[in-house]
Amino acid sequence: MIALENVSKRYSQSVALAPLSFAFRPQATTVLIGPSGCGKSTVLRLLAGLVFPDNGRVMVNDLQLSDANLADLRQQMGYVIQDGGLFPHLTARDNVTLLARYLRRDNEFITQRLTELSDWVRLPSALLDRYAQQLSGGQRQRVALMRALMLDPPLLLLDEPLGALDPITRYALQGELKSIFSQLKKTVVLVTHDLHEAAYFADQIVLMRDGHVIQTGAIDDFQKRPVAPFVSEFVTAQRGHVPLAN
Ligand code: ADP
Ligand code: MG
Repeated sequence: MIALENVSKRYSQSVALAPLSFAFRPQATTVLIGPSGCGKSTVLRLLAGLVFPDNGRVMVNDLQLSDANLADLRQQMGYVIQDGGLFPHLTARDNVTLLARYLRRDNEFITQRLTELSDWVRLPSALLDRYAQQLSGGQRQRVALMRALMLDPPLLLLDEPLGALDPITRYALQGELKSIFSQLKKTVVLVTHDLHEAAYFADQIVLMRDGHVIQTGAIDDFQKRPVAPFVSEFVTAQRGHVPLAN
């Protein structure tokens, strides 16, 4: 079970999360969506143990996340931070394989997995020897995804993992990722600001605002049963000003 129990978090002056309780469905995809600054990345940082809550408990695999178990629990997680977070002084290949090599996985496994992952994310293998700053934003995101998937972790925390991709690559990767999530029965927490993407991936959508959860449900619930005017505003804004003709 992955859950936040009465978790609150402040950064100096600002409240990032109001006391918030939420249980993430195991082996399902939960999508966090909401305006910039509403606390989406903070939820992922808490689940990954990059920050600790001021109050309340973060539960991962039924254990309260703490300094004592963080290293072990982190090995159960693949985490793509917003903007990739690759190590700039390492090549793409070394970024992807760092943890596997540290854990002394055998070379054959690592090589085979690299090939499989670069196919999945459609990254030409020639790019694997480049340093992070020699890659475009979209290429960096694909390397960050490869790194998160390398050890096939049961829990995936993905912070706007497709935001920097061009539409064609993004469309292809959405399809690849969705089949990875469902075939491999991953527990996924994915952040996006795109309601279409949320609807495509989510078993459950969580709409946040100002550190609170405003509504949870399927896309239909947001469209047909909004619990607050803000929900309708959010849905309408996502339709855009110029609907494309079919
Ligand atoms: P989101 O991912 O939804 O855009 P975040 O979780 O990153 O939002 O941030 C939530 C709130 O916390 C915002 O008001 C943001 O400005 C603030 N915040 C996030 N990180 C920090 C930090 N390191 N120091 C100060 N304030 C922060
Ligand atoms: Mg964010």
